[in-house]
Amino acid sequence: MTIAIIGAGIAGAACAHELVRLGKQVVVFDKGRAAGGRMSSKRTATGYLDLGAQYFTARSQVFNQQCQQWLADNVIARWHGETARYDQGRLIASPDNTVRYIGVPSMQAPVQRLLAGIELQSNCRIDSIRFDGVNWQLYSGDTQLGSFQQLILALPQQQAAQLLAPCSAQLSLLAALFSQPALLPCWAVDLELTQAAALAFSAIFVKDDPTLSWLARQSTKPGRAAGEHWLVHFNAAFSAQHLEAQPEQIAPLAAAELQRILGRAIAVKASVCHRWRYAQQAEDVAVTGFVYQPEAALGLCGDWLNGGRVENAFLSGRQLAAAVAV
Ligand SMILES: Cc1cc2nc3c(=O)[nH]c(=O)nc-3n(C[C@H](O)[C@H](O)[C@H](O)COP(=O)(O)OP(=O)(O)OC[C@H]3O[C@@H](n4cnc5c(N)ncnc54)[C@H](O)[C@@H]3O)c2cc1C
Repeated sequence: MTIAIIGAGIAGAACAHELVRLGKQVVVFDKGRAAGGRMSSKRTATGYLDLGAQYFTARSQVFNQQCQQWLADNVIARWHGETARYDQGRLIASPDNTVRYIGVPSMQAPVQRLLAGIELQSNCRIDSIRFDGVNWQLYSGDTQLGSFQQLILALPQQQAAQLLAPCSAQLSLLAALFSQPALLPCWAVDLELTQAAALAFSAIFVKDDPTLSWLARQSTKPGRAAGEHWLVHFNAAFSAQHLEAQPEQIAPLAAAELQRILGRAIAVKASVCHRWRYAQQAEDVAVTGFVYQPEAALGLCGDWLNGGRVENAFLSGRQLAAAVAV
């Protein structure tokens, strides 16, 4: 039995890895150039920049064990650094005991490790899927990519809903899953400054702000681009309002916002903008862990089914694999 998995983010990779470990045959498809999804760093001439997931934590025993293995394999490292929060116009040190991990040299390294030795068809966008009552057929444009006895969608909610829309009559039980958007947008901007900011903090949580949610000094992360790089995440409300803006419009806004939070003048040498249409979890989304419908030979996993974040995406994929392999 060959199982098709669409999506090579951490959820799809964890699912594929576990299925193979349990003796199943798996093919993974992803529209991206490489595995990683929202855990992808952008490669530059001087090193990687993290525009999506910033770090991850391990609260569960299962994911903690996985992180220990990744540490031993040198595909993740701890990100040490001083954290601060910007609250009601004040920048305040906010030290905590949280253990934060990042992929090394790039965020996607642990995802790629999970997929080592597993067939991955990258640069392969699945445009449509069809279920004949027994098997699933996958298409990229007009090209049929094969027939599979099981299909797993390890995609953001809205992208899974689009693919499944033509099959909605066969899958009416899934309608409730797609009734409200689970993932909200985020504009991410990396700003390279001409001078190092005289500031002790590596990361700033921006609380209850009209525009921002997070700032990080990329150069404090192991293996990231040389130079003074600050990553700016706009919050979901701002990002939704400016969803169709151009990068040239967003970059100067990011610079002005960084200056506001740091409370000092900055000079920007270069900027990189990325719009995540489906970024992080909305509040009040039901947590089901994963979805498996054996009668339709269909499974769904991903962060949005399990509370958001890297760890929950991993666990969602892992748990779905255990259900499918029974
Ligand atoms: C800006 C931002 C900041 C974040 N910060 C943090 C953080 O600090 N800590 C944390 O824990 N989490 C963070 N997250 C969330 C974290 O990145 C996600 O929870 C996690 O990476 C989701 O993994 P996933 O496998 O569920 O989905 P994804 O990583 O989105 O994987 C889905 C994959 O499906 C592929 N795909 C989509 N459509 C198709 C198609 N039609 N055909 C083929 N392939 C397709 C995509 O290319 C992608 O690779 C952040 C996310 C963003 C965007």
